[in-house]
Amino acid sequence: MDSSRNADWLARSQAAVWHPCTQMQHHTRADDPAHLPLVPIARGEGPWLYDFDGKRYLDGISSWWTNLFGHANPRINAALRDQLETLEHVMLAGFTHQPVVELSERLSALTGGALGHAFYASDGASATEIALKMSFHYWRNVGRPEKSEFLCLAGSYHGETVGALAVTDVAIFKDAYAPLVRAAAHVLPSPDFRQAETGETPADVARRAAAGLESWLEQHGERTAALIVEPLVQGAAGMAMYDPEYLRLARQLCDRYEVHLICDEIAVGCGRTGTFFAHEQAAIDGNPIRPDLMCLSKGISGGYLPLSIVLCSDTIYAAFLDDSVARAFLHSHSYTGNPLACRAALATLDIFAADDVLAVNRQKSAKIAAALAPLAGHDKVRHLRQRGMIAAFDVVTDDPYFSRKFYRAALDRGALLRPIGNTVYLMPPYIVGDDEIATLARVAADALGAALS
Ligand SMILES: *Cc1c(COP(=O)(O)O)cnc(C)c1O
Repeated sequence: MDSSRNADWLARSQAAVWHPCTQMQHHTRADDPAHLPLVPIARGEGPWLYDFDGKRYLDGISSWWTNLFGHANPRINAALRDQLETLEHVMLAGFTHQPVVELSERLSALTGGALGHAFYASDGASATEIALKMSFHYWRNVGRPEKSEFLCLAGSYHGETVGALAVTDVAIFKDAYAPLVRAAAHVLPSPDFRQAETGETPADVARRAAAGLESWLEQHGERTAALIVEPLVQGAAGMAMYDPEYLRLARQLCDRYEVHLICDEIAVGCGRTGTFFAHEQAAIDGNPIRPDLMCLSKGISGGYLPLSIVLCSDTIYAAFLDDSVARAFLHSHSYTGNPLACRAALATLDIFAADDVLAVNRQKSAKIAAALAPLAGHDKVRHLRQRGMIAAFDVVTDDPYFSRKFYRAALDRGALLRPIGNTVYLMPPYIVGDDEIATLARVAADALGAALS
């Protein structure tokens, strides 16, 4: 990457762009112990990203969990070109348009009609804040303003704006800003199955965590507005996975104590865990449970455009209907319901329907499992685990630079794999082929060896 167009873009970016989730000195000072060069990307195609010198990287983490059907997907591109010639944007207060109506209808149908109304924003953190505000305001509108507190799980991640940090429990994101967060949620035990004690199954851990929820609600249910969870996989906690039994019990407890269940499906929705929504893997009497509020973002636009959506039940929606403006949900963003983003989402849903994506993903996730299986025997690898198109394992090491070393070793070998702390994970776009799955597994094994040596 020296003396090239890459080097030029790298230098200009370092000089002018403040990159997210980054200590910029790691990029800018070659003598920094965690020094890492930026990777300038010229173009993308399928699961591959190409730099300006023609070197390519296999996008093993779907560009921060957003991409579903590859970069520059011809079908999504065609839909967007068509939309671009028709309507790029119109405000959604007082106006409406075809893509936002169709998308709302189709998402409602995907919840079996349980969540009949869709509210729009642009990023995941805003969707979290909207869901919290809706729940809080609902309880005020129905004459129960004392229900104003929120619950989240240990290790939860729901975004990094000040309001979303109230329900985020990841120290690196939260600690510095804790004094800014006004109404921090109560943090409940996580059902993460890595916490199993000897003889406990994942379902036992889920029941133990649900007992913690129950005892909290017994005491504080009257004051609680909502419980927010990442269904089945707590992503930013390091792909902490748990048994659907927790969601089933949480749904029943939320009903019993009149508390909203908010499912943050921003990372796990859109087929990532094997069902279209992760919460569908929990069932009561043979029917999938449904949350009262659900947040979507990331994959819903195919990884193309910033779009987030909060779906809510008709009961919640109805509590805002009134002569009084003050009882309305007076939340807005300039790009609420952007037609291009909605059209990308419609094109994404079309691909799900046309290609039977969930069935194809079942085969791909079995191939990923087979490709990673040999790592289970590695003496530094623990908790090799998988849920649909997310596979992860933990690495036993005291090296504080492990994750950077691994990341860099993977880039050198042509793949984008960016561990979270000591957790290595694969979360590829759904269009990965057999060869690419084999490549990801080989790079993961080789990068592990390099990072530990
Ligand atoms: C990424 C993510 C968010 C935040 O979305 P942004 O668009 O980054 O604000 C919230 N919740 C979960 C579960 C996420 O993975």
